[in-house]
Amino acid sequence: MLDKKHINFFKKILPNDFVLSEPGDCWAYGYDNSKMHVLPECVLFVQNKFQIKDIVDYCYEKNISITTRGRGTGNTGGSVPIENSIVLSMEKMQKIIKVDLDNRLAIVEPGVINKTLQNTLEKYNFFWGPDPSSQEYSTIGGNIANNSAGPRAIKYGTPRDNILGLEFISGTGEIHKTGVKTSKGVVGLDLTRIFTGSEGILGILTEATLKILPKNNSIKTIEITFESISDATNMIISLMTQPITPYKLEFIDEESIKLINNMKKDHYNKESKSAILLELDGEEEYIEIISKKIINTIKKNNYKNLTIANNKDEIESLWSARKSLSPALREIGGYKINEDIAVPISNLTNLLNDLKIISKKYNIKIVNFGHAGNGNIHVNLLFDSENEKNSTNSKKCLEEIFDLTIKLDGTISGEHGIGIIKKKYIEKEIQNETLNLMKNIKKQFDPKNILNPNKTI
Ligand SMILES: Cc1cc2nc3c(=O)[nH]c(=O)nc-3n(C[C@H](O)[C@H](O)[C@H](O)COP(=O)(O)OP(=O)(O)OC[C@H]3O[C@@H](n4cnc5c(N)ncnc54)[C@H](O)[C@@H]3O)c2cc1C
Repeated sequence: MLDKKHINFFKKILPNDFVLSEPGDCWAYGYDNSKMHVLPECVLFVQNKFQIKDIVDYCYEKNISITTRGRGTGNTGGSVPIENSIVLSMEKMQKIIKVDLDNRLAIVEPGVINKTLQNTLEKYNFFWGPDPSSQEYSTIGGNIANNSAGPRAIKYGTPRDNILGLEFISGTGEIHKTGVKTSKGVVGLDLTRIFTGSEGILGILTEATLKILPKNNSIKTIEITFESISDATNMIISLMTQPITPYKLEFIDEESIKLINNMKKDHYNKESKSAILLELDGEEEYIEIISKKIINTIKKNNYKNLTIANNKDEIESLWSARKSLSPALREIGGYKINEDIAVPISNLTNLLNDLKIISKKYNIKIVNFGHAGNGNIHVNLLFDSENEKNSTNSKKCLEEIFDLTIKLDGTISGEHGIGIIKKKYIEKEIQNETLNLMKNIKKQFDPKNILNPNKTI
């Protein structure tokens, strides 16, 4: 239990109603999308970096751990306050400080919701690349801390590719600025990219300078179905080895097709064993030329059906089929483990075929879909967690999936991060010496281990 004197100190820094200490008030700040829940000792709503500095200085002196929280949409327990921690909520730091079109940059506070930023940039016909599906709820700070991205990462990258510089407060209370405001720069070590994806263990982000881009005004959406997995994966390779990079390239497997067909009354042909949703972006006068080239590439490969959307309603219909997958998965009930492994695309065929074998071996239904152009597949294990055998099998099944991923030169997380949920698997991917180097880096940023302790590494 946090001593009352600490709460009183925080009330000197923040307005009284920005300090929560009653369990009922703090409850909602103890969970994220991992479904873990730990009641925070107290919740602090900060408004600026000076308040954060004062709080970190105090916590450093008193050895109080801090869990920084965006909007708690993370999937791995990153913002769950394990270790008797206080929660530092960024939700009041929502200013878009500057949009500088000439220099293609925007400066924002960490609590800005991704979609709010995109809506603001849209007015100028600009956008920020990262588009996680949670963009209506998740914060730029959370996106940066988890290096979160969505379908257009294939062309426009993840936060690591779309940040010029950061401002953060380390575990000692020092304020640091990293990066540049130019599109080039090579002075000092690249702390911007070390911080990005560090899941709140190196510092508290207080400001980000983001690289923004002008938006193309036209989109072409194409759906392709296949009679086998290898036809789909060969198509993905073919599309990725020609010069027009797709705007989005999404894959779904046979189990996903069955689920969508139940919801969307046979949207896909029943014989389809997999499907790809491909999108291109470009200026209006070029989009038809680009599309023709891509369709030529498609036609050189094996496929079953090709559907080209010619207007807004047809585009909407193709995407609504794809988007009905998450609600369809929820409707099945039972327990779901949603993994987000990634492998080089040349290994996708082996991955998807071996996942079928693993699914049979453990009698666990596996549904796969994801961002094919990045080789990033959401592997969903569906089972009855009340059934002991099922539950034990799901753990063995997961372990085998991670081993397979590493064998195929992949990574155990393409976008969700490690947090607490996946910590026990990190040694499968990172060798001891390298892990120790990372732990030493963490010590430099946070010598008393007060920031998100015992998570990630
Ligand atoms: C429906 C749904 C769809 C999703 N879709 C995607 C997707 O398409 N792609 C994807 O990558 N992820 C996705 N996610 C996961 C999640 O939305 C992302 O990880 C997101 O970036 C988390 O943002 P948040 O603001 O909720 O952060 P939180 O969950 O609150 O925190 C995430 C991590 O960031 C740290 N953190 C937050 N703010 C700061 C800060 N200011 N300084 C330092 N550390 C900080 C936290 O300590 C924690 O470790 C999805 C989640 C849901 C629920």
